[in-house]
Amino acid sequence: MTTEQGRDTTGTLYVVATPIGNLEDITYRAVRILGEVDLVAAEDTRHSRKLFARYGISKPLLSYHDHNEQQRQPELVERLQAGKNIALISDAGTPCIADPGYRLISSCHAEGITVVPIPGPSAVITALSAAGVSTERFAFEGYLPQRAKARADLFRQLNGEQRTLVFYETPHRLAATLADLVEIMGAERLLVVARELTKLYEEFFRGTTAEAVTRFQQNPARGELVLILPPSAQGPQMNVREALSKLLNESDLSRREAVKLIAKEYGLPSSDVYRESLSLTEEEESHE
Ligand code: SAM
Repeated sequence: MTTEQGRDTTGTLYVVATPIGNLEDITYRAVRILGEVDLVAAEDTRHSRKLFARYGISKPLLSYHDHNEQQRQPELVERLQAGKNIALISDAGTPCIADPGYRLISSCHAEGITVVPIPGPSAVITALSAAGVSTERFAFEGYLPQRAKARADLFRQLNGEQRTLVFYETPHRLAATLADLVEIMGAERLLVVARELTKLYEEFFRGTTAEAVTRFQQNPARGELVLILPPSAQGPQMNVREALSKLLNESDLSRREAVKLIAKEYGLPSSDVYRESLSLTEEEESHE
């Protein structure tokens, strides 16, 4: 909106990054903007109050999350059009990175409302910065699918990817995810698990996928996790079924010997590999 004097009276939407753990990880600019805006749209207003208390910020908070995004959006756009300045924050890190916000921002662009990013932490960049792997090219895959089949399909699709892969994962699904990684991408792939970044129990696990299975079996992971998988120097790894099929059909090894070899190579229980070999033979025979 422009007045007769030509002054733009439309408000600005600030997209403000907040800490991912340690409350000191916020920029001077972010604190100033949060203290200056008319309203802060936050994912969880109770959570954000702790940050506000630490920095003496007392601005009205309005909830904006996955479940009320559609209803809140026109309301926020209207307030911006009426000249209010609004900051968008999420519970942790940068809004829109595995967090809600892009629909509101898209509406603002469509309505000619100025959108200003206030950069700061994000778990993906924080993890990559200290993982010690090549970051020249990387692909951020966000949260892994919750369903086992969808997750395994994604890993198959990404097998052979030449960019470093970054995933967000929750601790209760980590064991199943690591088992899939070993089965589909191989036991010897380098993996970094960045845990509880910027917090008291911050930890970087670096090892092979098979070592990660053992490590997190013995000591289940807690807290927040980022998984980093640099590209394999050997190119795509055959999955267990393909490797079994090759050995059973193209070598003189007995089923027992082939199963033993694959179980060792992939760090899997022999009984699982044996079952897989039977189902493979059954499938091959049904196609004959
Ligand atoms: N917007 C956030 C960002 O910029 O990173 C991400 C929000 S997403 C809902 C939350 C996920 O990010 C967690 O489940 C975890 O995978 C990752 N994450 C957030 N904070 C983290 C931390 N301190 N350490 C490790 N991973 C973290």
